[in-house]
Amino acid sequence: MSLTLPSDFTLRESTRKFIDSGPKQLLINGAWVPALDGQTFSTVNPANGEELAQVALAGVEDVARAVHAARAAFEMGPWSQMSGAERGEYLWRLADLIDQHADELAELETLDNGKPLRVSRRGDLPAASKHFRYYAGWASKLEGSTIPVSIPNQFVYTLREPAGVVALIIPWNFPLLMAAWKLAPALACGNTAILKPAEETPLTALRLGELVLEAGFPDGVINILTGPGEPTGAAMAANMGVDKVAFTGSTETGRKILRAAADSNLKKVSLELGGKSPNVIFADANIESAIKGANWAIFSTAGQECVAGSRLFIERPVYEQVLDGLRQQAERIRVGSGFTPKVHIGPIVSAAQLERVMGYIEGGREQADLVTGGQRLGGDLAEGYFIQPTIFAHQKDDLPLVKDEIFGPVAAVTAFDSMEELVARANSTAYGLAAGVWTQNLSKAHRFAQAVKAGTVWINGYGMFDAAAPFGGYKESGFGREMGKEALDLYTRVKSVWVSI
Ligand code: NAP
Ligand code: MG
Repeated sequence: MSLTLPSDFTLRESTRKFIDSGPKQLLINGAWVPALDGQTFSTVNPANGEELAQVALAGVEDVARAVHAARAAFEMGPWSQMSGAERGEYLWRLADLIDQHADELAELETLDNGKPLRVSRRGDLPAASKHFRYYAGWASKLEGSTIPVSIPNQFVYTLREPAGVVALIIPWNFPLLMAAWKLAPALACGNTAILKPAEETPLTALRLGELVLEAGFPDGVINILTGPGEPTGAAMAANMGVDKVAFTGSTETGRKILRAAADSNLKKVSLELGGKSPNVIFADANIESAIKGANWAIFSTAGQECVAGSRLFIERPVYEQVLDGLRQQAERIRVGSGFTPKVHIGPIVSAAQLERVMGYIEGGREQADLVTGGQRLGGDLAEGYFIQPTIFAHQKDDLPLVKDEIFGPVAAVTAFDSMEELVARANSTAYGLAAGVWTQNLSKAHRFAQAVKAGTVWINGYGMFDAAAPFGGYKESGFGREMGKEALDLYTRVKSVWVSI
């Protein structure tokens, strides 16, 4: 495969070897296999539109094969029967292998997704291995409880059992990290898994599959299927042998998965969906750090983040000052290939997403005031999917620009006058994933944190995550909490046992 990269960058030999190793296959029952019907699709580098690899396209029958393997591994062991401590050792081993191959995995992530190499290497990679280590610890600490009941001579206790075969469907914005968010707790709890990465970014999940084999996981415990939402993802959600689906992606696809579960075996579902998160700057905030934080909240990852601080509310007395500061910061952001040193943000992940984001920007020009940005980048970047950081100022909250999750570098900024008005407007969205608030006044900060309908609130910061802190949505941002001990609930079932004594 010929790869065009910035002239001052050389890919590691191991990364190139993986790219050059021919068409990528499916991991089913501990072996790499082509799709039964031999179909493949291509994954491209969003920085220049070049094909990176051909990847197997899993059909309905391939999904059935993977479910069969996962079921056998679950029912026959040894995975679900081994001690939690032992499962934890496997997870720990996988974390070590991720760290050992972090440079290569980071390069693959940047090739496939486009994000700056520095971000892949220092952000996504350590977060992924830490996630496996955090849940490695939980594997030996899953416990039930004893329940005092009012009926005499009864001893009641609970068992916490794995859900069974779990299907994990993830998006393209943090490909390896999303795989870790789902695989780590699922495996710690003793489930067997089928992972489907997004069609735009399958490479790091596939390389992870090789590390899974190196770590010695028993056959069928982790299966990896590449392919598009339909047929691959849809077949996973509809399969009668799948006990649970964990999904991250758009609200629209989340609804389809819920419907598929309802129409099949009522499998358990958890959904981490979109957002349109409010980020609030009060006049008494440390303005300089609020501007920096708000800028990063929307523009890091080129806005392709479920928690992106895409609706900015600025208290009127500092509105002009903050807007001007945001504009200046946005204009200093360096957009380019993720392999160019000192680049802040990379491309949009695909041509389709680029078109979608540009559609919102074009529509926005007629409905709101364009403060800065608004252009697709040309010149050296014309072959890739690059968009300038873009800010719109608006007065109306019912514009598509303000209501819809754009998933691009587009901020909608508005002024507010009172806490009451702010809370009403911040909550006037179908979403409820996250929120931010910047103020030096403690009681204002906590009042807002309690009033806003969102699963995560950051005070004087934005976008922090940790494997130990639960994360998930209110309203149409989904249900179920990932991370922390809450994620154990997603991947286990509780059984009550009554003993007459
Ligand atoms: P998406 O369709 O929701 O994709 C997420 C995952 O679901 C991918 O693995 C996708 O497969 C799979 N999928 C798609 N249709 C499916 C179906 N019918 N049944 C089962 N799985 C299915 O998101 P997208 O199309 O890539 O992006 C569109 C919009 O979604 C974005 O603009 C953004 O607003 C939102 N989004 C949100 C998040 C988030 O973190 N909350 C992440 C990504 C996107 P394929 O990729 O192979 O199609
Ligand atoms: Mg899609």
